[in-house]
Amino acid sequence: MNASDYCPVTREIMEDLKRICGDAFVYSDDARKLAKYSRDKVPGPSGHLPEVVVIPKTAREVAEVVKLANREIIPITPRGAGSGLSGGAVPIYGGILLSVERMNAIIEIDDKNLTAVVEPGVVTNKLDEVLLKYGLFFAGYPMSEEFCFIGGNVAENAGGGRAVKYGVTGQYIHGLEIVAPTGEIIQLGGKRVKDVTGYNMVQLMVGSEGTLGIFTKIFIKLLPCPTVRQAILVLFEDAEAAIAVVPEVMTSGKLVPTSIEFMDGFTNTMGYYAIYHPSVH
Ligand SMILES: Cc1cc2nc3c(=O)[nH]c(=O)nc-3n(C[C@H](O)[C@H](O)[C@H](O)COP(=O)(O)OP(=O)(O)OC[C@H]3O[C@@H](n4cnc5c(N)ncnc54)[C@H](O)[C@@H]3O)c2cc1C
Repeated sequence: MNASDYCPVTREIMEDLKRICGDAFVYSDDARKLAKYSRDKVPGPSGHLPEVVVIPKTAREVAEVVKLANREIIPITPRGAGSGLSGGAVPIYGGILLSVERMNAIIEIDDKNLTAVVEPGVVTNKLDEVLLKYGLFFAGYPMSEEFCFIGGNVAENAGGGRAVKYGVTGQYIHGLEIVAPTGEIIQLGGKRVKDVTGYNMVQLMVGSEGTLGIFTKIFIKLLPCPTVRQAILVLFEDAEAAIAVVPEVMTSGKLVPTSIEFMDGFTNTMGYYAIYHPSVH
């Protein structure tokens, strides 16, 4: 659709949104607050102001907002922490910006079955901190985990420093509760590994960047923390020698490192080229 195909947010629609989410969690008249939701972390002048920001607390509220937007032909953009680098959370058509920042509960950690059930607004790092007490971790690991949300990780199928060994976020998602574009609340997959009957709708939603539905609950596969970890810093005379050693570590070395980072002489200030195996899980 083009911007001209959508309808504006009227005063009546604002009143409906406030009835659904509460007065304090719907606003359209504070330019500074709206600006906060107008862009993600894409560098440059990529911002677009939404007409209204809504911050629901429950899946039912999300569903009511989506039904209203669908009926009134108003664009709706879901948003996590806004740390994305692809513009997905930018409300390019204006309309409703729906932030999941209040949906931040860790609903269940089932350490016996290695699963967690969380709301989409949980900060990824917060989940990892809590899991550490159980000797577990979530292997999806974007380098923005101090501030990004789990829901955003799923919507971007994020993968970062641990991807060589553990893969990307989608491999650790067993199920999703979503609000479909029509406003229905649907559960796809679930806590059990074998909750996979039928089409693989969970993986269709993974990486969909908010275009196919809004996640309201996420079922995550957990892993036990490794018992031994070792960080190694190796110095090389030149970049070619450092890079050549990478495949050898995994082939003749028979070792899949969690991650390998390369620092050039300028960056590490020591004047050497270095391959570094950081001590993350
Ligand atoms: C310093 C830095 C390092 C980064 N490192 C990495 C990295 O290593 N790997 C990587 O993959 N990315 C990385 N990123 C990009 C970004 O942090 C990730 O993609 C992250 O997963 C986005 O999460 P978010 O909560 O900020 O999502 P947002 O930016 O808010 O949204 C991202 C997309 O998800 C959609 N979305 C958000 N919540 C929902 C929901 N509940 N339901 C449906 N759709 C939703 C939005 O509509 C949007 O399309 C990095 C970014 C920065 C700034």
